[in-house]
This record gives sequence, structure tokens and C-alpha cells, in this order.
Amino acid sequence: MSNETIQTFVAAQKRTYAKCLYGDLTCEEKPVDAHSIQNAKVIELIQDNGHVLMPDFRLVNGEPKLAFVKIGRNDASTFTGLCSKHDIELFKTIDTEPLNVRRREHLEQLAYRSVMRDLHVHLLNSEKAWAIHEQLCKAGGKNPAEVATAASIIALNHDRKGLQALNYREKHFDTPLSRGKIPDLQHLLITMNGQEPVVAASALLSSDFAEDGELIGPTFNVVPMDNDKSFAVLSYPSGQEPKIKADLPEIFDGDEDRLTYELAKLIIQRIENFVLSPSHYDKWSSDKKVRVLREFEANIQGPKPVEDHDDLNIFL
Ligand SMILES: [Zn+2]
Repeated sequence: MSNETIQTFVAAQKRTYAKCLYGDLTCEEKPVDAHSIQNAKVIELIQDNGHVLMPDFRLVNGEPKLAFVKIGRNDASTFTGLCSKHDIELFKTIDTEPLNVRRREHLEQLAYRSVMRDLHVHLLNSEKAWAIHEQLCKAGGKNPAEVATAASIIALNHDRKGLQALNYREKHFDTPLSRGKIPDLQHLLITMNGQEPVVAASALLSSDFAEDGELIGPTFNVVPMDNDKSFAVLSYPSGQEPKIKADLPEIFDGDEDRLTYELAKLIIQRIENFVLSPSHYDKWSSDKKVRVLREFEANIQGPKPVEDHDDLNIFL
């Protein structure tokens, strides 16, 4: 990789996208660093000395390399997609109370936050890719508005995905809530008894797309509750159930003994917004560290078949 490309890469990494994405997107207030994984209780359980691990790129010998890197707990899983007022309004309950899986509002807020974070990350990635596009055009003496590059195509792709997440949010959350109705969601709750608090996650997955481009998929959250129990929750619009079940048969109908492994595989294949306990990771063999990272990296551009191996169980 040339120095110029590295500079481009680094510059792009520093780009931010800060806008309050509440409601009709007209809020002009300054966004705060909102946690997509609850800090006070969930990250508290996972952190060691104020740090967690997250997958991210770092420059190693001049090359961007994927690694599980230490991140301060206050920066972990944050996104700048909501102002303080709207962050509190939407997520006060799940930010201040322990998750109560028997309370519908808790599960709804958990799902809604995953959608918000997904919407924001696509807008952010679009900005980053567009920054690379501008650099490439500048180097080639071209007008960024007039030519396409690999980077501009990536940017447009993220714009499209962001729009799909926004439409999903409006249809399944904002519209019913604005009419005083309860969002028509199903929740698959998986209780992981005896599970140490080592992984937490929050994401919106895409199982399929309707002909008009509508996103079909569940939100997915892993929430450690204490030293001996974690929950995994998949939440999805009722009408999407058949397609989501068909997409995730190992989760919905798989062998119960393999469920934790299948959840771990799902995270490696499809989720980048997850945190790991550093002391837990330190206990892995070097083979396991290499395998988990290799499979995660192989799936970054979209899910690929994974070679099954017990070492992929990041909960162990
Ligand atoms: Zn706002």
C-alpha cells in the first residue's frame, strides 16, 4: 500500500457523521456520543480496567490490518446519531434500568436502538467512502461529482442501505408509535444460563429484501445480565417471520446444545458492533484468536460459508 493510499485511508477513518437522526431528521441539535450497547451495566460487566475489545482497523507496518483492539468503555459502541434530548427520550429506560426481558418496552427500545445505530453507521461509512472518492479524484485531477470510482460506488451502496434502515424504522416503529400503537414485533429470547459476561452486541441484520427493496431482517442483541447469565434477543416485524426463520434455521430450530455456538457464528459472520471482554480474549489460544479474526475478516463484505470449528465459539 502506498503512503498516499494510507493517508487516504487514515483521513477517511477520521471522518465523522454527526447528525440527530430522530424522527423526521429535522432536529438541528448537536449529537452526543450515544451508546448502542448500554455502558452503565452491560459494558460494566464486560470491561477490564475500563476497556473492552472491538474489531477495528489499525495501521500495522503501513498496512490497515483488522484486529480486536482495546477501546475505552466510554467510546465503545458509540454513535453520533442523536442529540442528548432525543437519546434520553428514546432510550432512557434501557439506559438506566437493567434489561427486563418481560417488559415489552425494554425489548422495543433495544431493537429500536439497533436500527438507529445501523442507520447511522451506513451514513458514516458513506461519508468515509466519499472522502476516499474525493481523494482519488483529486489525485487524478477529476471532478468528484462527474466521475465514479470504486469508493463512490461503496458510498452510494451505504446510502442505499441507510435509506433501507430508515424506511424499516419508519414503517415498523415510527409510524405505529406516532399513532399510539404498539409496534407489531416478535421477540425470540434466548437465555444463556451459566454464561459469563464476555460478549455484548447490537445490530440490525438483513435476511432478505422485498422486490421494492424493503429490508427484511431482525435486530439482534446480546445482553449480559450478571456473572452467570446472558440474553440474546432477536426482534422482528411479525409479517417478516417466515423469511427470517428461513434465513436463520440454526437459531430458530437448531439443536439447543449448539445454540451458543450458532449465536457466536452469527456474530462473526454478520455483526461488527460487538464488544469482547479483554481478559476473556486473553485466555484464547493463539489458534483461536487467529481463526476468529480470519473468519470475521472473510465475512466483512457479506456473509460467506464458515468452516465449522469449536474455536469459533467466542462465548467460550
Ligand atoms: Zn435531536
